[in-house]
Amino acid sequence: VTAHAMQRPEWIDAISREHVLEVAAALSIEVQRPRGASGGSFACPACNAQRRHPKTGDRRLACGVRAGGGGWRCFECDAHGDQLHLVAIALEGRRYGELRDDQKSRVRAWVQDWTRTGTAASPARPRLALVTGDPTPAYPPPDEVLALWNACGSVRADDRIARWLSVDRGLDVAAIATAELCVSLPWGTRCPRWAGKPQHDEHGNELDPKPWSETAYRCLFPLFDHEGRMRNLLARFVGKVPHERVPKSRAAYRFARTGLVLADRGGRDLLAGELEPGARVVIAEGEMDLLAFAIAPRDAGERVAVLGIVSGSWTTAIAARVPDGATVVIATHLDRDGEKYAAAIVESLAPRLRSGALHAERWAP
Ligand SMILES: [Zn+2]
Repeated sequence: VTAHAMQRPEWIDAISREHVLEVAAALSIEVQRPRGASGGSFACPACNAQRRHPKTGDRRLACGVRAGGGGWRCFECDAHGDQLHLVAIALEGRRYGELRDDQKSRVRAWVQDWTRTGTAASPARPRLALVTGDPTPAYPPPDEVLALWNACGSVRADDRIARWLSVDRGLDVAAIATAELCVSLPWGTRCPRWAGKPQHDEHGNELDPKPWSETAYRCLFPLFDHEGRMRNLLARFVGKVPHERVPKSRAAYRFARTGLVLADRGGRDLLAGELEPGARVVIAEGEMDLLAFAIAPRDAGERVAVLGIVSGSWTTAIAARVPDGATVVIATHLDRDGEKYAAAIVESLAPRLRSGALHAERWAP
């Protein structure tokens, strides 16, 4: 697969580079600029909600924007998506993929006009003057992350997690436990405030988060930065989530996970700059695929590093850690989001793919 074949249309690239808040403002939606680690907020074009929790003093607007400006979600109706979804919902009332062809054309025309795609002119439009570049993300305190990790035990010794991994997911629990790909958070373990599930009372007032250790989010995966340091934890729901709106996994509440990836031992070596050339670097999507690729049988002597990405994981800093001479196997899902991640990965590696320093292939079942 060449870099060229996986490239998205230019106008989709153009809108994806914009901060969600800039897009919202251009659509005449009320916006609030980011403060601190937040990505800002805007009124919801899907349900028309203005405030997030109308009955409280929370002045933030209904839709929260991810730090970095790449994604958004409405606290009222759960509408969510990226920059393109926002344009599609605001103009045509539905996500882009759900639109008729004539509606898609109108969305594309708006984007091309606003971003000046295909012209040399720079976009002529009022700017919100948002922070440019990636601000340093705020991760939870490293000593607290490490302490919680150390309080965890083997997934093999936790009947519930072991049964879920082996019976429900068909995975080799012993291999997962040996490689310490994920661990079990024992029921009732004391958790820092960030290791909890946000809760609200019936009036919408914010309550203390419920510790992960008292919920089904008890299977923990470490998240690493581009230098291989454990900076956050991903808590995975053990079993089947009761509703599609219930997230399958959560990272530290109110802290960033941008720029962090899941990694097996080879992946951690890669991040630490210790992976030898010639290795295969598998980039999987999500924690369950990370497990599957990490414990998959290998040829004798084959060196494999597995990274697992979620939205916001892949950055140029992470891409720069892939050593020359590697074969990158892009194994993100074969759906729209997965193709989007694949395109972003290829784009970040494009100069080295063109020069032949790296090779990339798309994994197929
Ligand atoms: Zn909404």
